[in-house]
Amino acid sequence: PVQLPLSDGAKSAAARTTSSDPSSPPAVSSGEWSPTSWQSKPMRQSVKYNDVRVAERALQKLESLPPLVTPVEIQRLRASLKEVALGNAFLLQGGDCAELFDYCTAQQIDAKMKLLLQMSLVLIWGGNIPVVRIARMAGQFAKPRSSLTEKLEDGREVPSFRGDNINGYPIEERTPDPKRLVDAYFHSAATLNYVRSQLSSGFADLHHPFEWTLAHVQDDESKERYQSIVDSITDAIRFMRTIGADTSSSLGSVDLYTSHEGMLLEYEQSLTRHLKDPTTGQLKWYNTSAHFIWIGDRTRQLDGAHVEYFRGIENPIGIKVGPSMEDAELVRLLDIVNPNKEIGKITLITRYGCDKVAGKLPGHIKAVAESGHVVVWQCDPMHGNTRSSEAGVKTRQFGSIISELSTAIRVHKELGSRLGGVHLELTGENVTECVGGSQGLTDKDLSLNYTTYCDPRLNNKQALEAAFLIAGYYRE
Ligand code: PEP
Ligand code: MN
Repeated sequence: PVQLPLSDGAKSAAARTTSSDPSSPPAVSSGEWSPTSWQSKPMRQSVKYNDVRVAERALQKLESLPPLVTPVEIQRLRASLKEVALGNAFLLQGGDCAELFDYCTAQQIDAKMKLLLQMSLVLIWGGNIPVVRIARMAGQFAKPRSSLTEKLEDGREVPSFRGDNINGYPIEERTPDPKRLVDAYFHSAATLNYVRSQLSSGFADLHHPFEWTLAHVQDDESKERYQSIVDSITDAIRFMRTIGADTSSSLGSVDLYTSHEGMLLEYEQSLTRHLKDPTTGQLKWYNTSAHFIWIGDRTRQLDGAHVEYFRGIENPIGIKVGPSMEDAELVRLLDIVNPNKEIGKITLITRYGCDKVAGKLPGHIKAVAESGHVVVWQCDPMHGNTRSSEAGVKTRQFGSIISELSTAIRVHKELGSRLGGVHLELTGENVTECVGGSQGLTDKDLSLNYTTYCDPRLNNKQALEAAFLIAGYYRE
């Protein structure tokens, strides 16, 4: 049986704080790996439950439940990401910052799937290559926080909301509740079940193309440009139908993979299974909570629990790379999580901010190239570009997001590398959380429909516009 971490009193929150002295190399992970070996490492963002026995029971329940995804699917995604790393495909990843259990509705899942599919058509047109789609969905329930408490207007200090897998947004639900671990599994399962059934029932069938409304685009020149992209796409589909080239499955169905930040290691461990590799038959450790999980920028310490857990799983994994990452540190991290330098196993999700990307990205690209690692380079133009509006509302400027993206594309090109993908926080709903874009949202519009419980997301129109602009850069 898998050893449960919570009963070990030695791993109190205090004992888990990392003390990384940059002058002495940390004792990095290299020994024997097991699904529980992370438990002896210092862990950031750890969760402390009041009733350890209830938590243990929840984790035991998770251990008994069936995998949400299979090795065949995971290996198929790995093969696709290898093509991305080699420049033969593009990676689109997007979804909410914090997915809520309440987002598990047909309407919201449909809206997000439709948006990701439309964006992927635009990107296929832009790059003339296939697009691999990964949703931040069906499990994106655990959030790292810069501060573990928040100050309310009445002066009270309460625990921060850490995602539906840990605690609830209402103030009276802020104590970590282990029952949420099992709830997270069932909401993931319901979401994934609906995604799978919709896709196998023709949701993505391009014989019935989606509506493309561009009425909101205020600037005539942009509107004309976007309309001509939509026309090219619909013409191409019509042409294929006419000549009978649409009989293959590619116009009738698509792959959509799931992902989340693998932050809550107790949860991830419970869904880690020893299963047969579909090609070799060899037993390997798969994280079966999602096809792809990533390490956040706050939990990527070389000697930390998260890096230790991630180095042992077969899934393709992501690593968030913020401005504090040193060139040599990045290479050491790659050596730990991917010692055999397997192509496309690792996706580096860079998120520096529009004013830092030109300063930090070139060093990272050169260091990785010299190391011999071949990664997927993905740009997350969201997390380095968060600011407060004058009224104190967390927002992001569409222009800053596009600026980081276009700089990343240019820097890669100049260095003989290639930006292989984008990572966006978005929603299919018409929210007002990010400002700018062709709807012309401003700070004073933020209160109209601001519904995120964590970071501000692109709305459906802003996200589609981002895809149009990225497609344009690749066509240039
Ligand atoms: C996120 O992706 O929501 C997130 C917290 O990102 P990062 O780890 O890059 O800050
Ligand atoms: Mn976020």
